[in-house]
Amino acid sequence: MKIGFIGLGNMGGPMAANLAKAGHEVTGFDMAPVEIEGVALAASGAEAAAGKDVVVTMLPNGQILRAVANEIVPAMDKGAAFVDCSTVDVESARAVAEQAVAAGLLPVDAPVSGGVGGASGGTLTFMAGGSAEAFAKVDPLFDIMGQKAVHCGDSGAGQAAKICNNMILGITMIGTCEAFALADKLGLDRQKMFDVVSTSSGYSWTMNAYCPAPGVGPASPADNDYQPGFAAELMLKDLRLSQQAAEAADADTPMGQAATDLYTQFVENEDGLGMDFSAMLPRFEKRGRS
Ligand code: NAD
Repeated sequence: MKIGFIGLGNMGGPMAANLAKAGHEVTGFDMAPVEIEGVALAASGAEAAAGKDVVVTMLPNGQILRAVANEIVPAMDKGAAFVDCSTVDVESARAVAEQAVAAGLLPVDAPVSGGVGGASGGTLTFMAGGSAEAFAKVDPLFDIMGQKAVHCGDSGAGQAAKICNNMILGITMIGTCEAFALADKLGLDRQKMFDVVSTSSGYSWTMNAYCPAPGVGPASPADNDYQPGFAAELMLKDLRLSQQAAEAADADTPMGQAATDLYTQFVENEDGLGMDFSAMLPRFEKRGRS
């Protein structure tokens, strides 16, 4: 397939490289100067998108996605698929999909889970929203860039799944960190805490796969001075998207709101900026109850 790829950053770069490695003809564009193995570079988003079977975007946020869509949708061939893999608000995803459908395109919102490691290893999980026809057209590309793709429903359903998943992630990370901090103060050895919880009903991905305590469990950013990994500010971005969606849908999400407030404080007023989101553990360690 001829593929346009716009947004060749930490995630988009390796994803585009994997598509090229699998034999697709990939033309990329990024505002910043980049070099991606196997990917030809275009001078603009419109040039990267013109005449392609599929255009993939991997951009920082919904506002930028809308601006890029305004540029590339008129340049794309009718019947082409427009796959946005960025994490954006559900409203932007739906607005861009409507614009694409009106232009005769096949839109799919397909945010990912798996981080930079998953992007370079081709092991991402895609959660997709769009028509069955659109999903079928791009599913083979998800197989190259990832290990699993779930068609979640109509346009916006992929973003909805992503922010619900990440709201659980943020809440669970905080719960895991505050439990470790409490265990410390109760004199419980961290390894024993891990051994019990990781095989008991408190187990979770944050405990078992991404343990926030250094030297305990599998290797994680905690073992690397909390260098990201998944940065606290990206967690905050996703939590804010979840609360924006909850507000719009009139959903009661008190734990999601509490997690958003705590990550806001951590990133904006404490030492969370640039740290992995699991650095909540040293944050709790430093504090008492008041
Ligand atoms: P990034 O900042 O590394 O990459 C974004 C790229 O978009 C940059 O290279 C930037 O120059 C480019 N860009 C910005 N505006 C542009 C424009 N108008 N035209 C062309 N290029 C433009 O970010 P990332 O880590 O690759 O994340 C991309 C998306 O994936 C975000 O929505 C993020 O929330 C999501 N995501 C990231 C991770 C992660 O672990 N990094 C995990 C899952 C999802």
